[in-house]
Amino acid sequence: MPETELPQNVLTGLLPEEIFDNLELSQSFRAKQIFKWVGNGAKTFDQMTNLSLDLRNELKKKAVLRSSKVESVLKDPDGTIKLQIHLYDDNIVETVLLTDKEGRKTACVSCQAGCAMKCAFCMTGTLGLSRNLQAYEIVEQFLFLEEIAGKLDNIVFMGMGEPLQNLAGIRKTVSILCHKDGRALSSKRITLSTCGIVKGIYDLADNGPHIRLAVSLTTANQTLREQLMPVCVAKENSLEQLKKAIGYYAQKSGKRVTLEAALLHNTNTDAQSARKLIDFAKNIDVNINLIPWNPVSILPFESPSFNEVHDFIDLLEKAGLNVTLRKKRGQKIGGACGQLGKTVK
Ligand code: SF4
Repeated sequence: MPETELPQNVLTGLLPEEIFDNLELSQSFRAKQIFKWVGNGAKTFDQMTNLSLDLRNELKKKAVLRSSKVESVLKDPDGTIKLQIHLYDDNIVETVLLTDKEGRKTACVSCQAGCAMKCAFCMTGTLGLSRNLQAYEIVEQFLFLEEIAGKLDNIVFMGMGEPLQNLAGIRKTVSILCHKDGRALSSKRITLSTCGIVKGIYDLADNGPHIRLAVSLTTANQTLREQLMPVCVAKENSLEQLKKAIGYYAQKSGKRVTLEAALLHNTNTDAQSARKLIDFAKNIDVNINLIPWNPVSILPFESPSFNEVHDFIDLLEKAGLNVTLRKKRGQKIGGACGQLGKTVK
């Protein structure tokens, strides 16, 4: 297959019924067997030992197992692993494996090559958008990480790109990873993080899947948000509209939404910022997840000091909010939140 040709019948992106139709199989249970092999990480057709040799040879002519390959593996001493993945058209995306202190493993996957949203504090935002990823390219990130780390517990759409700008790709990925005949991941173990695309939140609420939702709020100060997230904060995504959409999602999905904020030194950590955030969180069922900003040398921000972070948290907690502080992981390999794309050529 020439590198830039759009692959046909990439098995990592097909559901059992699509495998059956596209590969013109005569028995539907064969499609389920193939689907299971793919979800279990088979890298060659010859590993599919419960298929006849004739069928395996036929599959080799009609389909490819994967569309992308791992270009490099970067390991941080804190256990974080970042993969750079070479897509069929020479785009490179990054995907990260995070392991918490209890040993739970989470894949942080990319859904776009680059990103159009230009958030001022994010390395990926400086790249611009190349294109949406196909479901097979997202599923493959998960499978590549499982090859290195064994079975993963969670997947978060928090890597490169804005997932609600690629909802079709996300939906297909979720239906493949959650399928009972394949990887059978629970939808409770899947989180989508958006910079706040209101229309997309309603679409997800009304049409599913009802996975966990995190909103990268950053600040509840409208003027500052317009400076920090200039593309996302169009009129239809104002804080007022966003709050309504978050409430709607929580009510439709029955799931508490997480508000995320990357804390930037002397920018969104003062008492007024805390008051605005407390006000925003009133009457909606949310958790707050704070992330001290991870440095990117070409961006004009600094990480907040220890006291700055903890004073901010104190104010939120005194107002009764449920706050968690995200541990810094993967900084040494450019694999921490906001750093993806740092090493993409
Ligand atoms: S924070 Fe997310 S939405 Fe914003 S530029 Fe980065 S990847 Fe895109």
